[in-house]
Amino acid sequence: MKLVFNNISKKYKTKIALDDFNITLTDGIQALLGPNGAGKSTLMNILAGLTKPSSGNITLDNEDTVKMGAKFRGILGYLPQNPGFYPSFTGYDLMKYFSVLKGIAGPESRIDELLEFVNLSSDSNRKYGEYSGGMKRRLGIAVSLLNDPKVLILDEPTAGLDPKERMRFRNILSRIGRNKIIIIATHIVSDVETIADNVILLKSGKLILSGSTSQVEEHIVGKVWNKPSDINEAEEYVLLNSNANIIKHGEEVSLHIVSDVKPFENAVAAQPTLEDVYMYFFDEGGMAGEKK
Ligand code: ADP
Repeated sequence: MKLVFNNISKKYKTKIALDDFNITLTDGIQALLGPNGAGKSTLMNILAGLTKPSSGNITLDNEDTVKMGAKFRGILGYLPQNPGFYPSFTGYDLMKYFSVLKGIAGPESRIDELLEFVNLSSDSNRKYGEYSGGMKRRLGIAVSLLNDPKVLILDEPTAGLDPKERMRFRNILSRIGRNKIIIIATHIVSDVETIADNVILLKSGKLILSGSTSQVEEHIVGKVWNKPSDINEAEEYVLLNSNANIIKHGEEVSLHIVSDVKPFENAVAAQPTLEDVYMYFFDEGGMAGEKK
């Protein structure tokens, strides 16, 4: 499948949330990365048909998604940040309720299969309101998968989850299958670093860069540095510079710095990670180069 965003712009009164955004997405996990306010939710709301763009359109295999109407909604799964499910419903009842809304015939086996998939079978008769954050997110995924969507949107899916639940969630996402376009909008790099087939960097409503993880990392080769340090120097440095973090290996301390220029005489070039790419393009301190 081919999902094409054509010249999407969105203006809210005076604020330009999206500025001539163009991209073509294919099957696989698409990580939409950007800091708060970048325009991720606006873009996902436009894709879901909940917000109208000021200009531009989106096509799925050459068909305008707005004109597709119900046909597009039938193949779309959307897990918003706060789905607002009824807290007094059990997990199972919510699945049943949404199956009816989505017109799924004889849904019982599908519900059982999905509850199993997200590891909630044994909690399916508990009330949603009593679920932990992680369980809520997992139920959300199960609901969004009910109609076996071909395009699945997940907006900040791990917000508020602890590391273990995050990992669990990542594992579920990586098992969903590759015959879908799965778009994960997030500002948390570690959520998508190991599972994304394609990374899209969005800043102030503009597309900055996209490609596989290794392709986007390629962009900052020669701009990432490690420098042997001691804890006092390292702590002072990161306090003053937002483009750096401290790495500890037992007793050894080093500074990991993203910078266009070699920051110290004894700094050595390091292999960039997606975290570094994020730091390079989205560093609010502006230490890592001018052309952001
Ligand atoms: P993100 O999801 O990346 O945090 P958003 O799409 O929510 O970004 O927001 C992008 C920009 O548009 C922000 O500056 C935000 O304040 C603004 N914005 C979003 N929704 C509205 C709205 N309904 N009215 C006015 N401004 C909005």
